[in-house]
Amino acid sequence: MTTNEQTIPGFLTGGGELGELIRGKDWSATPLGPVDTWPQSLRTCVRIILTSSQPMFVWWGPDLINLYNDAYKAIVGGKHPDALGQPARQVWAEIWDESGPRAETALRKNIGTYDEALLLIMERNGYPEETYYTFSYSPVPGDDGQPQGIICANSDDTERITGDRQMRTLREISNRTMEAKTEAETYERTLAALEQNPQDFPFAAIYRFENECTVAHLAGKTSTELTAGMMPTQLRLSEQLPDVWGLADMCREHTHIIKTDLPAVFGPLPAGSFWKRSPDKVLIMPVQQAGQKLPFAALVVGLSPFRQADERYIGFFKLVADQVASSLVNVRTFEEERKRTEALLELDRAKTTFFSNISHEFRTPLTLMLGPLEELLNDPQQLLPEQHRANIASTHRNALRLLRLVNTLLDFSRIESDRLQAVFAPVDLSQFTTDLAGSFRAAVEHAGMEYEVRCAPLPQAAYVDKQMWEKIVLNLLSNAFKYTLRGRISVSLEADGAQAVLKVADTGIGIPEAELPRMFERFHRIQNANGRTHEGTGIGLSLVKELVSFHQGVIDVNSKEGEGSVFTVRLPLGRAHLPDSHIAETAASDYESILPDMYLQEVLSLTGTERAEPVEEKQQGTPAHILVVDDNVDMRDYISRLLQKGYRVTVAANGEQALELIAKETPDLVLSDIMMPVMDGIELLHKIKGNPATAALPVILLSARAGEEARIEGYDIGADDYVVKPFSARELQARIKAQIKIAATRRETEQHLRNLFSHTPFPVAIFRGPELYIELANDKMLDFWNRTHEKYVIKS
Ligand code: ADP
Repeated sequence: MTTNEQTIPGFLTGGGELGELIRGKDWSATPLGPVDTWPQSLRTCVRIILTSSQPMFVWWGPDLINLYNDAYKAIVGGKHPDALGQPARQVWAEIWDESGPRAETALRKNIGTYDEALLLIMERNGYPEETYYTFSYSPVPGDDGQPQGIICANSDDTERITGDRQMRTLREISNRTMEAKTEAETYERTLAALEQNPQDFPFAAIYRFENECTVAHLAGKTSTELTAGMMPTQLRLSEQLPDVWGLADMCREHTHIIKTDLPAVFGPLPAGSFWKRSPDKVLIMPVQQAGQKLPFAALVVGLSPFRQADERYIGFFKLVADQVASSLVNVRTFEEERKRTEALLELDRAKTTFFSNISHEFRTPLTLMLGPLEELLNDPQQLLPEQHRANIASTHRNALRLLRLVNTLLDFSRIESDRLQAVFAPVDLSQFTTDLAGSFRAAVEHAGMEYEVRCAPLPQAAYVDKQMWEKIVLNLLSNAFKYTLRGRISVSLEADGAQAVLKVADTGIGIPEAELPRMFERFHRIQNANGRTHEGTGIGLSLVKELVSFHQGVIDVNSKEGEGSVFTVRLPLGRAHLPDSHIAETAASDYESILPDMYLQEVLSLTGTERAEPVEEKQQGTPAHILVVDDNVDMRDYISRLLQKGYRVTVAANGEQALELIAKETPDLVLSDIMMPVMDGIELLHKIKGNPATAALPVILLSARAGEEARIEGYDIGADDYVVKPFSARELQARIKAQIKIAATRRETEQHLRNLFSHTPFPVAIFRGPELYIELANDKMLDFWNRTHEKYVIKS
């Protein structure tokens, strides 16, 4: 029966395609009967759905006869238009387990239902499809007031749900692989991320390629059901084996492929933790960077049986593969960067080691050269012909200069390898600076310039490393001298608040403004500077800067070309800014540094002035006995010759020999090298200090290991003093003299005390050491103990 315009009831007008179909359908052949017999409530429902643009349907009567609108067509998909007028149970057979009970609730119990984004596997397009719907079944009363049907509004959430899930996976991969440091980690973390999405990745695996895609290694898989038989750990793609997983094909074709034959080869593939059904298609997706010829790897994915592998879906997997590829590129860049940095560090370490080795190696021969030269120059009998004397003086100056360069290089290599350790001790900086500056007076005045040294007393102690401060002052002073031809040089030190401020000013050639910012850069020199010399390494000022920073201080320069320069060093006073571990409460026992001499000699050589070396003092009375311990014959001979003038010298080649000699006759002082075969200087020192009979014997250690690290070591183990090679004859003699004097004074004081105690009318005893060895007990004490002198020999 067809309905013409005139007979169309109002509720059936409009409604697009479905309006047309409903109007044209012969309803008398269905359980609903002819349209004019439909109850009012059904008519109202049909009116509602036909006018709605939301997907809606009405199920009416005991058979739930299905009527729907245009918007709902997309939901029924391939079942349209047959679904019109069919019982709902028939239309939705595949999801009736979900829909049936809900319809029942609405119809029988008169209770509406509501579901949000419910997963429904619909077969609306000829294949089972993962869909998500939000819908409500509302019971509709018939004319008798009892529920006669259901009206339902739907919204399709499939896109939103699956889209969100895919975004999550992409985000997860990116988060997890961000921190990956190796390729293996990238693969592992990617697969862990894929495992979180079993809907889109029922199973996944990654094969990475090697040798231009001729070998594939399994980098990981999400399922243990993918046995080694199915997925071997290594596949040789070049060989003429069946390319079961299509890896060779994929490499060749430069694009993804979809394998459909795998269930036939292996039987059901792993379904993963979400779906109950095995994948029948497997996607092989290249993991590769845009423009790259060969892929890094292949991503193997068991595809969901409930999604069509259409272009959009494949696009998602391509995004996944791209993300893995970009993580791999990052890892490779990182790895290359790391290797490069490591190689550079290694090179740097080797360079520093070489520097410090070679510098050490220079020091011993230099010491051996300087010593005899000094001896010749200081010969009190003046036996040298004048001509030779001048030559030797010049050789001596140059050897000193060489030594200063070697020392500076060594300082640098120590700073670079973090081995230069400062030892800060309270120092009368004013006095110390005055003394240092004093060594330049003669040279400056001899060159016809004025010299002013003004060092005001400071309100509190300055904690400085004496050797470093020496280098700071001497470097600045020798620069001032080198670059000033007339006028004046002045050195001043004063307090400014909580800082000590050192200024070294000159009226010399000055520094071009453009150069000022670069003055403290390493190896920076000013081209064509007119000073007393063109020689130089450009290392002096940068060393000064490093040394100043060790003290948490700053250095600055002010200069005007042609007028002069002022170098200003500011150091915080006190010790609060310095690490406790680097503070020594007292400065190392006074030593006569070789440094001022070295700098001065160099400066003097520029003016052609000769050195004026003081004649050595002679020792008086019976000469003290010194035991020299060194395995180097040259060094041993040299030191012996040096000391023979004032002392009685015996020698030993190592610690053991030294101990034997000491047992026979205790010397007044031991001067020992550190590095020796059989028994080294440290062990010798321990043996001497550990034996009560020799504990008071002064020991000076001698070593080529310059720097504070060795100095601290020397004091820590209880050496009385520590002399670093190279040393000047004067320095060594001064130190030996000081130690012998200290020992003598100590002995005198002790003797004095002993005498005092022996004659006191009270019992007195002195115990020493952890064993409480009785060192002294006077007569009264012995009486008290009821013992005699024979029983307790008093050491004297
Ligand atoms: P060196 O003196 O070994 O070349 P420095 O680092 O001590 O190295 O000095 C770098 C450069 O700074 C020198 O070459 C010189 O041109 C310039 N300079 C340093 N001190 C002064 C100064 N007091 N007056 C003028 N120029 C100076």
